[in-house]
Amino acid sequence: MSRIVIVGGGAAGIELSTLLAKANRKKHEIILVEPETDHYWKPRLHEIAAGTFDRELDSVCYFTHGAINGYQHYQAAMTDIDRENKMLCVRRNDGTEAAVKYDYLVVAVGAVSNDFNTSGARDNCIFLDSASQARHAWNKISQLLREGDDRTVNIVGAGATGVELAAELARVSHKLQRYNAAKLTINLIEAADRVLPNSPQKMSAKVLKELQRTNINVLLNTRISEVSEHGMVTADNQSLEADIQFWAAGVKAPEWLKGVGGLEYNRMNQIIVNANLTTTVDDSIFSLGDCASIPQADGSFVPPKAQAANRAAVHLSKSLTSLLRGKELTDFEFKDGGMVVAVGHHFAVGSFAPQSKMANKLVFKGRLIRRLYDTIFRLHQRTVEGMFTVSRLIITKRLKALFQPNGM
Ligand SMILES: Cc1cc2nc3c(=O)[nH]c(=O)nc-3n(C[C@H](O)[C@H](O)[C@H](O)COP(=O)(O)OP(=O)(O)OC[C@H]3O[C@@H](n4cnc5c(N)ncnc54)[C@H](O)[C@@H]3O)c2cc1C
Repeated sequence: MSRIVIVGGGAAGIELSTLLAKANRKKHEIILVEPETDHYWKPRLHEIAAGTFDRELDSVCYFTHGAINGYQHYQAAMTDIDRENKMLCVRRNDGTEAAVKYDYLVVAVGAVSNDFNTSGARDNCIFLDSASQARHAWNKISQLLREGDDRTVNIVGAGATGVELAAELARVSHKLQRYNAAKLTINLIEAADRVLPNSPQKMSAKVLKELQRTNINVLLNTRISEVSEHGMVTADNQSLEADIQFWAAGVKAPEWLKGVGGLEYNRMNQIIVNANLTTTVDDSIFSLGDCASIPQADGSFVPPKAQAANRAAVHLSKSLTSLLRGKELTDFEFKDGGMVVAVGHHFAVGSFAPQSKMANKLVFKGRLIRRLYDTIFRLHQRTVEGMFTVSRLIITKRLKALFQPNGM
């Protein structure tokens, strides 16, 4: 019996733990090391920050989920790897240190926003890298909404996170106006010359139009040089005062990861892996998701996207299961299925992958595309919880929505 230790129960890690446990039940031991008690689908953290996330229906308790599906949840955070003795070093939530023995180790600890060492950003901005940060954001936002006067929110970064957060906050503020809540003025600040700089031009244009229609101030070509408690200063000395400030720009693997276990890392702190997802220096250690730099046959690298994390997890579950049965590992090839970004609760914009010939010709938008956006989450939920549970959750959610105030 081999012991496979998976670190990080996010988009990639929880799918991998579930699939490996199902395929190897009673044959091999699967342990998921994750410091949180519950799993949240990260692309929905902006909904937690805006108070519109249904925690009861859309989160998963690692402990019970593991017990039902055949893996063990070990609640702790990875701190180091002792490769010589095949031990994962962890810190438990009570602060004590421990070590977990592994035969195979998979690192899937995700990524965090990159503040590019901007002065004051870390101390004066809220980051949306974890569910606890998103909950902290909602505590602050709900406090502002209660105060009743007009308030301003600065959001740095108009990638998927910034766009989705701005649109959801605008919607909540608008909906709550009739209950005398504060009116939020939202500044979405982007250093590039368009929103969603990594998506096709045409998609950026459609999203910009929708953001402006919902009265979000989009400031393009605007680089922030300094952040203080009550505002930001741009590179050309413009001052942008605000009551709450978010940093949603840039992506890098967490700072603590760099150098761990003597593995090979790139400038974004990502672990460099081979196409079969083994690390370049140790073939009993794998990495996938946002914290891994995964090469593609055309010389490019797999992008840090939920879709890529999920596909890599499905691939590795099959490939690792084959290895445990004495076969060879196989290479992971990512075929980008395009991009969908939610602009509020009832509207989304989608396009083909940037490399596709159709990417700049065809862009889809509207309520139906918003349903497609939800489907991507439901597909993840289906892998983790099964089709029956997902159907039950969808029906319960619809019924619950009927009784919520003002369709929140
Ligand atoms: C608000 C928001 C909106 C987004 N929207 C989109 C979108 O529309 N489309 C899209 O494709 N992508 C989107 N993304 C990006 C997407 O969420 C990520 O690409 C995806 O979640 C990466 O999956 P992962 O498993 O690598 O990491 P994650 O899902 O981030 O999971 C990492 C896990 O590791 C755990 N962890 C961290 N440190 C440790 C440690 N020391 N020890 C053990 N465990 C640890 C964390 O608690 C977490 O559970 C969005 C992200 C955000 C924040």
